[in-house]
Amino acid sequence: MALVLCQQCLSWVEPIAEQCPQCDYPIDLRAADPTLEDLAATIGPLTSVIGPVRISRTVLPYRGVLYATTGGLFFLPESVERVRLVPTVLSPGSLVRALTRIPMRILRLGTLRGAWNFERPHMRVEVFVQPSPRLGPGDGDQIPRLLMDDPGAFFFARRSIKSVRRTFSGWALVRPNNLTLRLKPLGDRAAFNEQMTALASEVLETVLR
Ligand SMILES: [Zn+2]
Repeated sequence: MALVLCQQCLSWVEPIAEQCPQCDYPIDLRAADPTLEDLAATIGPLTSVIGPVRISRTVLPYRGVLYATTGGLFFLPESVERVRLVPTVLSPGSLVRALTRIPMRILRLGTLRGAWNFERPHMRVEVFVQPSPRLGPGDGDQIPRLLMDDPGAFFFARRSIKSVRRTFSGWALVRPNNLTLRLKPLGDRAAFNEQMTALASEVLETVLR
């Protein structure tokens, strides 16, 4: 799966026919990523922590924390999977197996002298889970970098919210193309609902203005 950051809706998406499947905006794969300064200008300062949430999607992580900024909503997954290269030490058995596959001509040339050292490190790829930071009021300047570093993170700009609706299990954010993202609060429901109610009335005011 090749993900790109849609510069219109600031979600990591897999383009379909050079269009963003979230907001239908054309995606130019040759365009450079936005700079951290561009992102900071769009996202704006962090205003509050809305709370832990589960969102309606299956391909990317769906549990995380929702934050409010002056520009919209930022979702950060609770953790991110990363890969790293770690050294591994050849056991004597694996070294013997490796050497039996090396032509004698090369062994006689002595080019593999170093391989006789059993402690010689080799590298292998390891996948590990890194917990995401929990942002506080003064940490808003980290958001652009977190968005670029974690394809599970996304920003939902206020300009991309057509409506905010209360649902049976939580909330629904509706885009102008009617694509809906469902949110289910996982922590303090009353605090979460209070903030989403405030957002819903602000969005309604903007639409009516
Ligand atoms: Zn988009």
